[in-house]
Amino acid sequence: MQKYENSKIILINHKETAAVADVVRQYFGNIQPQGMTFSIPSEEYFIISCSSSEILLPDLIRKLMRGKLTAAEKMKLPKTFELIITLQNNAGKRLWREESKPVDLRRNIRRLLHVALSEQTGHKFPWGTLSGVRPTQVALEILDKNRSRLKPELPAGLPYSSDEKKMALVELEEYWKVSQSKAKLLLETAEAEKQILQRVDPEAGDYIVYVGLPFCPTRCNYCSFITESAVSQAKFLEDYVAAVITEAKGIFQDIERPPRAVYFGGGTPTSLEENLFDYYINEVLAAIPDADGIECTMEAGRPDTITAAKLNSIKKAGFNKICINPQTMLDATLEAVGRRHSVADTVKAFEMSRQAGFNDINMDLIAGLPGDEKDGFLYSLQRVIELGPEAVTLHTLSVKRGAILDKDDKASNPFLPQIWLIRQMEEAQQMLRSAGYRPYYLYRQKTARSGLENSGFSKNRGSLYNVAMMSDEVTVIGLGSGATSKVICNNMADRIYNPKELKMYIERIKLIIEQKRKFLSRV
Ligand code: SF4
Repeated sequence: MQKYENSKIILINHKETAAVADVVRQYFGNIQPQGMTFSIPSEEYFIISCSSSEILLPDLIRKLMRGKLTAAEKMKLPKTFELIITLQNNAGKRLWREESKPVDLRRNIRRLLHVALSEQTGHKFPWGTLSGVRPTQVALEILDKNRSRLKPELPAGLPYSSDEKKMALVELEEYWKVSQSKAKLLLETAEAEKQILQRVDPEAGDYIVYVGLPFCPTRCNYCSFITESAVSQAKFLEDYVAAVITEAKGIFQDIERPPRAVYFGGGTPTSLEENLFDYYINEVLAAIPDADGIECTMEAGRPDTITAAKLNSIKKAGFNKICINPQTMLDATLEAVGRRHSVADTVKAFEMSRQAGFNDINMDLIAGLPGDEKDGFLYSLQRVIELGPEAVTLHTLSVKRGAILDKDDKASNPFLPQIWLIRQMEEAQQMLRSAGYRPYYLYRQKTARSGLENSGFSKNRGSLYNVAMMSDEVTVIGLGSGATSKVICNNMADRIYNPKELKMYIERIKLIIEQKRKFLSRV
């Protein structure tokens, strides 16, 4: 069918191109604006204008969103304004207008633009107009709002009543256009996340630690992380390990409070050879203040890197959670995505972990992998459930720029709803519930197929690290190249990033420590 090149989305009185691009990507692919205009190739001609009734200076909005607006600058922003979206097409003109506060500008642009584009294209996403915002945060905001309307006298920490939840369900479905099953999943997960976060006290100084090792044996086709091959980059491994240990010692030299959770991730930390791996985890852990009951997780993601000796090291070092990630339980799919390990490797790694005494194992699966359309994902999940890990995380394939699968520019393709994928994810979640797992954390990625979610299900208390990391409510100390550290000030997260480039990270480690100590001293 012929595509018009001259459909347009025009921004007026604001410059929130990133928020608009996020929504446009879902319907039409990766389109960059020229100035304040997006030119859209579409089968039917349309023009959307997205305007604010007041001029909103981009610098002020940026500062506002980072919590860095001065009192004088605040005066330059209107208290409220009207956000007006018009859609003009062959059928005529539609208009949506809503009073908005500047702090809600991006969120409201995304939501109303979704409404207009859904009307124009006929596409309905399972998450409706929710984008660019943490879904569980929205759910909790709605639940808290209902609490203050219905029972303002009740303390915030009490569980939500069925009336509060029913009202939230209606708002999610009618206002945010979220499908009923996603709205239910969201409310259940939001409550679970809230409960898990009650285990930490950020105001008292609770924090979590991430330690990254960006090496893997080979690169998975869908991976866009900054992973290096542990084989071809072997010359860097020892220097890298030494740098992380130096960083850990430097950062924690004057921190006495133990963290609430420690997570060794990557890449794949277990891609180090046995002796170096043992040295790495013990030296880093020795630098971190220790206390009983800390949640300590090892991401032993690639089953082909797990050996009995490494499991022994992990156990002896005090880790109480471990992740073994099959991604799929089909050998053909593993090969298609370049995982270079077999299903038998996964089963063996799982059994060895049990023998080593691990009783809290998470396994990750990905929905939407190439070749998995015919229910390969559900078959994989059934096999995983039969193994019986304590937690299962269901990811949706998300191909970003830089991934091998992106070679034909798939990351630029639109992520329109695919019925089979949406159905598979729903069935998978149902299978997990039937097997006794409950959702405990959830997040979405911009480039996920069909706009679907990643969700963690667990039979036990879930992972504090996973929830706290996503929450923007807890301070994070990140170690290793590319690791992010963040502190929470005035309910806003402020971040500092380690260099992604290995050589730079290793060479500048002293400066990195100095800068990060200064950054963390604000907590
Ligand atoms: S195991 Fe994970 S980090 Fe490593 S290449 Fe695959 S997707 Fe990337």
